[in-house]
Amino acid sequence: MKMMDKEQTFIESINKLKGTGVRITPQRKAVLEYLIETEEHPTADDIFKALSHEHKNMSVATVYNNLKLFKDTGLVTELTYGDSSSRFDFRTNPHYHIICTECGTITDFEYPALEEVEHLAGLLTGYEVNGHRLELYGRCPNCQK
Ligand SMILES: [Zn+2]
Ligand SMILES: [Zn+2]
Repeated sequence: MKMMDKEQTFIESINKLKGTGVRITPQRKAVLEYLIETEEHPTADDIFKALSHEHKNMSVATVYNNLKLFKDTGLVTELTYGDSSSRFDFRTNPHYHIICTECGTITDFEYPALEEVEHLAGLLTGYEVNGHRLELYGRCPNCQK
């Protein structure tokens, strides 16, 4: 996302949270900001490590509580892959994930053409389709070096 878009997204997300009646604490703002800023798909631990030096009252539990809240509000998606800890993705445009089987990096890519599969599946099966999930696996450029 571009700088301006990030600011806009942040403001909209705060408003959405306010709309549900939750209190906007400095920690809450920090976790949200971090999720919007990062291109990674951080775990709760990653977020805690990144923010704890600046926010002394931050605990892993605070991070978890906020992530759960953001998830319930529809701001973030929780990604679970196998038995490793959940990763969190701020919801932007629809995108897919390719996951490195060596280091666990998750990279986003978009493939809008695939939206058609929902329409096609609906026609073929008579289902009312409301989503699909696709994950790709491989070795990231770093691990190929
Ligand atoms: Zn890798
Ligand atoms: Zn993503």
